[in-house]
Amino acid sequence: MAETMADRPSKANGARVLADLNALRAIGAYKTGVHRPTFSEPHRRSLDWLVQKLPDAGLAAEIDGIGNVFGISAKAGPRLLAGSHLESQNFAGWLDGPLGVVYALEAARVINPDPTVKGAVDVASWCDEEGHFGHFLGSRSYVGEVTEQEIDAARDRTDQRPLREAIAAAGLAGRPRKTAERGRHIGYLEAHIEQGRTLEGSRLNIGVVTSIVGIWQYRLTFTGEQNHAGTTRMKDRKDAGLALAKACVAVDDRFPAHAGPRTVWTTGRIMLDPGAPSIIPGRAEMLFQVRDDNPEIVERLEALLGEIAAEVGNLSGCSVEVTRLRTGKPAIMDSGFQRAIEQAASIFAGGKSTHMPSGAGHDAQVLASIMPAGMLFVPSIGGISHHWSENTDDADIVTGAEVFVETCRRLLTN
Ligand SMILES: [Zn+2]
Repeated sequence: MAETMADRPSKANGARVLADLNALRAIGAYKTGVHRPTFSEPHRRSLDWLVQKLPDAGLAAEIDGIGNVFGISAKAGPRLLAGSHLESQNFAGWLDGPLGVVYALEAARVINPDPTVKGAVDVASWCDEEGHFGHFLGSRSYVGEVTEQEIDAARDRTDQRPLREAIAAAGLAGRPRKTAERGRHIGYLEAHIEQGRTLEGSRLNIGVVTSIVGIWQYRLTFTGEQNHAGTTRMKDRKDAGLALAKACVAVDDRFPAHAGPRTVWTTGRIMLDPGAPSIIPGRAEMLFQVRDDNPEIVERLEALLGEIAAEVGNLSGCSVEVTRLRTGKPAIMDSGFQRAIEQAASIFAGGKSTHMPSGAGHDAQVLASIMPAGMLFVPSIGGISHHWSENTDDADIVTGAEVFVETCRRLLTN
């Protein structure tokens, strides 16, 4: 069948994408990565860089009162929202965030001036995805979840600077925060580095994200009897620390039989009270996290966690309390978006794509609460991320850009 004009794939300009990513890498450069925490001077400069680039894509640029940058199209027809974030973790990588912003910019540059494609790509750079001041501040503000009181209370986790002060120093005090205009967008598309080894390990180019996992968090508190480490016979002890350690081992033994194929769990912090070499700890506490995209699996594991804690407590003569601190909200990616990414990957990546969940959080999970959302991953070398050595092959970056731009065209024309 002959290709009609409307079926012609849109092609990203790979050299332009690499040049933009390298320009951003130079803003706050640290070794081969960047140090660009939220509202630092280099972060503010990176926002200005984007504001200056957006008109090239036929977009009107603005920065709102929480530091989100938007590029808004006036072209008629359906509109797709695309983006990611420009700040980094401290002393971290150059692609975590900027990759998705530059892909969105490139999609807008290719598609918006093209009269054969109906509709346009709007661009967003969400502020503080990396959580220096909170979690997903920019995207949550856009969907209407951030209150003024939350902003009043937020502080930089590194230097305790109040968020209000940081916003003022960035010249954004008093600006309104932009919220989603219902019905304006057919959905949200985001690209990101994988930050894991699935794609590299299978020599694949594109990950089609099926869901973004939810995070459940628990506190386990064991209470025994604080006593002298020299005079208390072993049989008489109620050692809360020992009970906690036994619970950790039992979780690792018994969770796998009840977990899903990609469930992960982590004991992130252990505290013994009083925590001295000559005192049997009377109290022991651990923070425990489970991630999965299936709440039913986590419900099973939560019940099992309670059983394990009770059994271990009984055997050790300790009482135990399990408290859920955080309930996960997994985000399911739209099936039409997944199909469009897969089709674009069959054209530009030789079909070397796979469907996979995201174990890390992304702004797309927040946007998914108000519109259809999709995500695609490109490979991370060695799976390394949140470190300055994070990297992706230039060829993989270009392939990802081509798949991203063509996915945008397909979503707008379907
Ligand atoms: Zn990121």
